[in-house]
Amino acid sequence: EDKGEDKEKVTHKLEPDTELRFEVEAGATVQLELTKGLAEVFGTELILNKKCTFQGGSKLAVYTFHGCTVTLTGKTESAYIAKETPMTMYVNTHAALEQMRQKADEEFTRGPRVMVVGPTDVGKSTVCRMLLNYAVRMERAPIYVDLDVGQGNIAIPGTIGALIVERPASVEEGFSEVAPLVFHFGHKSPGDNLTLYDLLISQLAEMVNLRCESNKRANTSGVVINTCGWVRGGGYHSIVHTAGAFEVDLVVVLDQERLYNELKRDLPDFVKVILQPKSGGVVERSKETREESRDNRIRQYFYGKKNDLFPHTFEVKFNEVKIYKIGAPSLPDSCMPIGMVVQDNKTKLVPIQPSQSLSNRVLSISLGEVGDDDIVTTNVAGFIVITQVDMDRQSYTLLSPSPRPLPRSVLLVSDIPFMDIK
Ligand code: ATP
Repeated sequence: EDKGEDKEKVTHKLEPDTELRFEVEAGATVQLELTKGLAEVFGTELILNKKCTFQGGSKLAVYTFHGCTVTLTGKTESAYIAKETPMTMYVNTHAALEQMRQKADEEFTRGPRVMVVGPTDVGKSTVCRMLLNYAVRMERAPIYVDLDVGQGNIAIPGTIGALIVERPASVEEGFSEVAPLVFHFGHKSPGDNLTLYDLLISQLAEMVNLRCESNKRANTSGVVINTCGWVRGGGYHSIVHTAGAFEVDLVVVLDQERLYNELKRDLPDFVKVILQPKSGGVVERSKETREESRDNRIRQYFYGKKNDLFPHTFEVKFNEVKIYKIGAPSLPDSCMPIGMVVQDNKTKLVPIQPSQSLSNRVLSISLGEVGDDDIVTTNVAGFIVITQVDMDRQSYTLLSPSPRPLPRSVLLVSDIPFMDIK
């Protein structure tokens, strides 16, 4: 480590198979530049002498197989070089998947479907990102499925989705989202409506199968599934349900032996379950940090990852849109109409009347039409926020990524709040 005249510029020389971990101080930015050798950030190769900029709060690792030199400019927190990393194991997982892809190519079958599971803060999203990046670097086009409704990487919190990955993630901004397939869940935890969560997972699996049928390259490239960190009780049941719905071939369990043993016991024999350690670099996130990062994701949806988008604000009359929520409050069985079970209630469309309680809420724009009976399982076009409800004028003021008119009139309200203040 050699500190130049400029106090904030630090050069790090990395030995082969080590990684430089750092956090960007809140409110600061840090520039990273590879000046010698080869290195990657979560599976994306760095370009020699090209500066990448990271925003406050970013946590990352620069890994090198063969050794490299990098410089960091700006205020970092706890920058250090780690010699112990699980990277070789993750690369081995990739190699095994790649073999399965070659076999799929030769035999005209389906490529491998891998699901990454584990408790919160073990690096599930990061492992998915690496597996996808390594696949893309081999000219594959895998499908990324993200079921993490709290801290997901596709669309915004409260949704699940899928996307075909054809280019490595940008080191600064992650995967580019061209035409993702997104479903509205409406809550930040699967436990808020497990019946709906499982229903949407089944629906997403079906849609992924359809895409695979029409896209041979995606089909043989396989699927990488990121899951929620809730691994007990209902969360565990959803993991088992997901394995079945997507017919996964491989489950990577990060860091938890109990979960590994349970899945080995409960999944059919042809599903391979492996246990891998988490990286010591994964940073634990507090409840507040999680809330903040949910908020950031929503803000980025409207304002861009680099604050380079300009959302629109306009009014719509109450009668121009139909707002629903999914799931009625459950009633005791004895109060239910004959023939109706609690399950139905949880996936029922409930019309919402205009009221102040809709302000500062995120809503999904359904691709379904008024009167369709499958709106709950229809994917969404995008999101808006109701910033004001004017009962006198009978209108909502909306924050929207595109100008009026809204592409559709069915809106699904989520219980995730968002305040449009910069
Ligand atoms: P969640 O439970 O919220 O879904 P997760 O298990 O998916 O979390 P990640 O989101 O992958 O965890 O990682 C948590 C944070 O740790 C991220 O900010 C990520 O950038 C960072 N991180 C992951 N691996 C490393 C590493 N090797 N060095 C430094 N930071 C890392």
